[in-house]
Amino acid sequence: MTDELESAAFYKTLLESTHAIPWKIDWESMRFAYIGPQIEKLLGWSADSWCSANDWAERMHPEDRDWVVNFCISQSKEGVDHEADYRALCADGSYLWIRDVVHVVRNEAGAVDSLVGFMFDISERKKIEDKLVHLQQELKELSFKDGLTGVANRRMLDSVLDKQWSHARRSSQPLSVIIFDIDYFKQYNDHFGHIQGDDCLRQVARTLSQGVTRHNDFFARYGGEEFMLILPETDAAAAAKVAERCRSLIFKLQLPHPISPASPVVTVSQGVGTITPQPSDSLKAFIDAVDKNLYRAKQSGRNKIVNG
Ligand code: GH3
Ligand code: MG
Ligand code: MG
Repeated sequence: MTDELESAAFYKTLLESTHAIPWKIDWESMRFAYIGPQIEKLLGWSADSWCSANDWAERMHPEDRDWVVNFCISQSKEGVDHEADYRALCADGSYLWIRDVVHVVRNEAGAVDSLVGFMFDISERKKIEDKLVHLQQELKELSFKDGLTGVANRRMLDSVLDKQWSHARRSSQPLSVIIFDIDYFKQYNDHFGHIQGDDCLRQVARTLSQGVTRHNDFFARYGGEEFMLILPETDAAAAAKVAERCRSLIFKLQLPHPISPASPVVTVSQGVGTITPQPSDSLKAFIDAVDKNLYRAKQSGRNKIVNG
């Protein structure tokens, strides 16, 4: 074999033994001058079924086709090397993620002569990317959720409270807030143990979240055995009704609390507050006032609602 032939055979072997699939398209005729035989193993279409650039475009997911073809043509016309990810149609009707990396070859006059490139199977990479996106979403959700009860956590609560406070101030609308605190919960844990205490917290959280009846109402775990309900655009009379309904929902749960001095079943005390914030008002002072109402509810025998 001459040196030239020997090196041609060498390059052919090299090209056809890689996982990436080499190809060449003649620019003028838009026909495949070459495609590696490995294509058949990857997509199921034999190498000689790849005739024109049209075969390439037609064996593409319809959602990807337009932008990929337009992008590749415009880049090639500009003489710019480029790459595109798309779903290629397999002979069995399924799709496989491909990355096509394209080099534009020019003739001596500088005009585009042909396109040469490699197709890479990136399906595994895409699967991992999808998984990562999913995990990131999950993580985002988890960072706003209370791990024990599944309701919104304190971080989310603080941000929603800030937002609703500003909204109430701008729109001169009343904002109501209810703080709930389970009565004699320390005794509940002491009597039933922490595991059942956790279960009680979950049930109370699930029940009180039914206090959310309007689109912008928001319920969260405030801390320990305390929860908060934010009621935007809600006046004191409407907030009092919501509080009463929550008390009745907890009563209907009938979770036994044999050593509670307040009641034979689990109860909650509630501090309720309503404000149409003026520029001189502060959110912290408002929450302190609602907390004071909760304290008064405790002082007056628990299982009580104090508004003001
Ligand atoms: P009061 O009627 O005055 O509200 O009394 P209390 O016992 O409910 O209040 P206290 O603040 O004395 O105790 C709160 C208890 O809540 C103590 C703490 O162990 C329990 N607690 C807080 N977070 C959790 C939790 O995530 N799981 C369990 N099981 N218990 C918790
Ligand atoms: Mg407490
Ligand atoms: Mg308590």
